[in-house]
Amino acid sequence: MSPETVLDNSQATFNPQQFDQYVMSTYGRFPIAIAQGKGCTLWDTDGKSYLDLVAGIATCTLGHAHPTLIKAVTEQIQKLHHVSNLYYIPEQGELAQWLVEHSCADRAFFCNSGAEANEAAIKLARKYAHTVRGIENPVILTAHSSFHGRTLATITATGQPKYQKNFEPLVPGFAYVPYNDITALENAIAQYSEQGIAAILIEPLQGEGGVCPGDLDYFLRLRKICDETGILLIFDEVQVGVGRSGKYWGYENLGVEPDIFTSAKGLAGGIPMGAMLCKEFCQVFTGGDHASTFGGNPLVCRTALAVLQTLEAEDILSNVIARGEQIRKHLRAIAQQFPDTFTEVRGWGLINGLQIHSETDLTSITIVKEAMTQGLLVAPAGPKVLRFVPPLIISAAEVEAGMETLKTVIESVHN
Ligand SMILES: *Cc1c(COP(=O)(O)O)cnc(C)c1O
Repeated sequence: MSPETVLDNSQATFNPQQFDQYVMSTYGRFPIAIAQGKGCTLWDTDGKSYLDLVAGIATCTLGHAHPTLIKAVTEQIQKLHHVSNLYYIPEQGELAQWLVEHSCADRAFFCNSGAEANEAAIKLARKYAHTVRGIENPVILTAHSSFHGRTLATITATGQPKYQKNFEPLVPGFAYVPYNDITALENAIAQYSEQGIAAILIEPLQGEGGVCPGDLDYFLRLRKICDETGILLIFDEVQVGVGRSGKYWGYENLGVEPDIFTSAKGLAGGIPMGAMLCKEFCQVFTGGDHASTFGGNPLVCRTALAVLQTLEAEDILSNVIARGEQIRKHLRAIAQQFPDTFTEVRGWGLINGLQIHSETDLTSITIVKEAMTQGLLVAPAGPKVLRFVPPLIISAAEVEAGMETLKTVIESVHN
């Protein structure tokens, strides 16, 4: 498809001065503005096309302008889009049932983002610690290099000081352990057991922290410790869930089930939505304990159902597994071709990372910018990891084309 035939230029106006004057400068933005998308292709306001291996950061599950998404949003907004949780919302019940039937959870709570989903999980774990286990001053353990969101509680949960700096005082009741380190975990359990540990909140695969999959042995040990002590195991599935790992949920790659897990990003394919799910035994919320004005409204629930039913009906997980293997094969070849520049390829399904050698001056941003120039969108995951999280519907031909461009990009930044 050539951009001329697809791009609707009538709406493609962009005024960077206006933007920079009126929008708060919280982001380091790349100097392009995307005007339109179709499938895995995006066009900027100048009509230049890009292959999208970012998907709005692991969010546009079905890519852009997917007919099923368009139909769901259009039909639902014509019927009813929002009424508040003062009333029963049938679409919410239907979505909760789908999620429960396709996961280890028994119940769902709906909100609007990953941070909010984690906030809900933190509140539920604290209430469980207080009311069921009689812990007065509960601690939640999280991992170094984790990412759980930008609210005060979730930046505190996030084990990366750069997200916390200048926002102190942080929320009390959090302590940190290195990821995938069993000895350190056992030491922390011993250290905080007298005070009382409410929960361990952890990603099955660390996304923002550099695309680091969890170790099987570590997660088995985590589950065993939680079973023995009554500590709740919470998985943050915000980035790796909803099919991205090649299974519906990241934890299915580790052979352990959480007591609570959170979802957002890809859940409604790019329409803002978050969810917190849990097993029945720890569902201690009662009327008035937690709420959200927008959470689980008819529009987002209908959209999420369309995304999830499409994943299932079209067996998109098979595509995720096949395209993921294809990407990793190419990334390994690139890493072998440039052994001084890249050290490792990591990932599951369609969340993959290419680790840049710590000894080189090259950063992920340099590669991301050059790729953008050559019509390829990839995302950094920290300064030394390139992240590949395309729409789950990406085709084999698109992966080939993207990896071909990536090789050219790397050759041009290499010297
Ligand atoms: C993106 C992300 C979040 C935060 O989600 P928001 O929707 O931006 O609040 C939380 N946890 C993980 C693992 C994420 O990748």
